[in-house]
Amino acid sequence: MASDTVPPGDNEPFTYNGGRVDPGEIANIRYGISETYLGDPVRIPVTIINGEQPGPTGFLSAAAHGDELNGIEVVREVAHEWPLDDLKGCLVCMPVLNVPGFLAQQRYLPIYDRDLNRSFPGHEESTSAKRMAHRIFTNFVEPCDFGIDLHTSTRGRTNMLHVRADTGHEGANRVAHAFASNVIISSEGPSGSLRTEATEAGVPTITVEMGEAHRFQREFIDEALDGVMSVLAEYGMLDTEAVRWPGWRTVIEENDEKTWLRADVGGMVDMHYDCGSLVHEGDSICTITSPFKTDQTHVDAPFTGVLVGVLENPVVYPGNPLCHLVELDQTTLHAVEQEQSPPAGLS
Ligand SMILES: [Zn+2]
Repeated sequence: MASDTVPPGDNEPFTYNGGRVDPGEIANIRYGISETYLGDPVRIPVTIINGEQPGPTGFLSAAAHGDELNGIEVVREVAHEWPLDDLKGCLVCMPVLNVPGFLAQQRYLPIYDRDLNRSFPGHEESTSAKRMAHRIFTNFVEPCDFGIDLHTSTRGRTNMLHVRADTGHEGANRVAHAFASNVIISSEGPSGSLRTEATEAGVPTITVEMGEAHRFQREFIDEALDGVMSVLAEYGMLDTEAVRWPGWRTVIEENDEKTWLRADVGGMVDMHYDCGSLVHEGDSICTITSPFKTDQTHVDAPFTGVLVGVLENPVVYPGNPLCHLVELDQTTLHAVEQEQSPPAGLS
């Protein structure tokens, strides 16, 4: 449905197996992707907003991991609160992909603990997870020109809003930069994930990570809404100048310094920084203590960088991740320093 295949002034219907949404129509669909033990349908909510005027088709999705909630609110607000009367092209909004996981408020599909986000593009005759993925992928992902898949950190941890994308892929790089987060972590991504498989199938897709599971966190939701608006502006789907500029940006390539610092002792963790904070080499990021507070282990920053993710649940075994630190180049470092500690009188 790329815009250059459509004559000006006339959008196409959006079609999926079993239905169509004509130009100028908005459809709220419950689409069957599986069946429960009782034989009842498992249906995902999908809102399709097809503009009267031609343009690209993009998808927004959330809760591929069933307990990652922030993105759900982003998708719902775009679909149901934004004035999209003048939308050019079509938006496919899927607030809850992993319905069984969402109902159980857990990350994985409750059926054999499968990861829906490692099951794309799916297969119609394979496991239950791959059948669900197949229904989602063929009907609502493949017809698109780009996609944004919204996640949060895993339970017990939190992260600053950042984008994961294969910046070596022209289309994915375009979506990633348009979303305008401070940090982009570049990689091809794990096999079977929605962003990797969609990008591979010609639908450049980014993952947005933000905050923690089991929450609606307003500041992250608002930040992500700005990002979505900027992507729609980049693709000419909305007449808006509201392209966000994050102030500073760093793209972390696969071979750049980035590391999950792990605990070497068991104990309770006193984290000294919030996620998003700048830490300098040698700074004490956190302290791990015994039940008696007698033994203290300080964990120092091995290099200067930004804490993209940190522990929320303050208990660790040796080997558990404490925080995710990414290195900054000098220019970015100065910009972050200015933002986080503005000169006196300017704050
Ligand atoms: Zn996730």
